[in-house]
Amino acid sequence: MINADLHCHSTVSDGLLTPTEVVRRAALNGVQLLALTDHDEIGGLEEATDEAAICGVPFVNGSEISISWGDDLTVHIVGLGFDRHNPALVEGLARVRSGRDGRAQRIAEALDQVGIHGAYEGALKYAGNPALISRSHFARYIVELGLVKEVKTVFDYWLAKGKPGYVPHAWATMEEAVNWIHGAGGVAVVAHPGRYRASREELRKVFDAFKDLGGEAIEVLSGSQGPADTHEFAKIAREYGFLASRASDFHGPGESWVDLGKMPALPEGLTPVWSRLI
Ligand code: AMP
Ligand code: MN
Ligand code: MN
Ligand code: MN
Repeated sequence: MINADLHCHSTVSDGLLTPTEVVRRAALNGVQLLALTDHDEIGGLEEATDEAAICGVPFVNGSEISISWGDDLTVHIVGLGFDRHNPALVEGLARVRSGRDGRAQRIAEALDQVGIHGAYEGALKYAGNPALISRSHFARYIVELGLVKEVKTVFDYWLAKGKPGYVPHAWATMEEAVNWIHGAGGVAVVAHPGRYRASREELRKVFDAFKDLGGEAIEVLSGSQGPADTHEFAKIAREYGFLASRASDFHGPGESWVDLGKMPALPEGLTPVWSRLI
């Protein structure tokens, strides 16, 4: 077993550390295989690759692609170990990102209706990459306003589905995301399966479709889900024959449940996804 961490974020999406800082922190934490997986982005991979070579941390390319599933469920598909110059992947991700600015303006309008003003400019201030405004940046602005203390709480009151600042959005399809990843020679992973607001029945439909498209892996261990989820998704991985990933989903000090590389070991009887990456 190696200390693999195959899911984390930098300032290129909604993380708090630059790609260089992420790699340095992973090195200090003893990570033995790292993937940077910014939302719908690959713009941090060159910098991370260079720093990983300096720090001696084995590194693979990654991205966490937002997809729309069924009736307004958003699912995240992580791609690992792909060629970051592949044209279809590069163009596909650029298209997904291009919808974010309009979405951010709609989120700001919705927040304005409930008395939170200036949220577009406020969120943009926190975005390290103007092409990638995410709900996390809105959450940081709302914390700055002093309305609540923690980013997590902002989601509960304003940004989660069903709350006043939530706006539906059309992301990529699952088929597009899996095909972009595979076309670029990568491996596809369902991110934090325990975190979706979906019934277990609906989640099975997600896994069935993913399997049919040739999707290889799921995150059995994720900083975004709990020990009961680990147990459940270990069983699902065995049943479906999915490879198992290990993922902190680290966004930054003070904003994450678990630090880089600080997750438990994978449960027994699973094939790690890194068997396909190293
Ligand atoms: P977006 O891609 O703009 O919809 O933003 C999604 C991001 O918001 C996720 O990747 C998380 O970083 C963050 N997020 C979503 N739900 C929560 C939550 N309940 N608590 C904290 N952060 C969250
Ligand atoms: Mn995020
Ligand atoms: Mn995610
Ligand atoms: Mn993530």
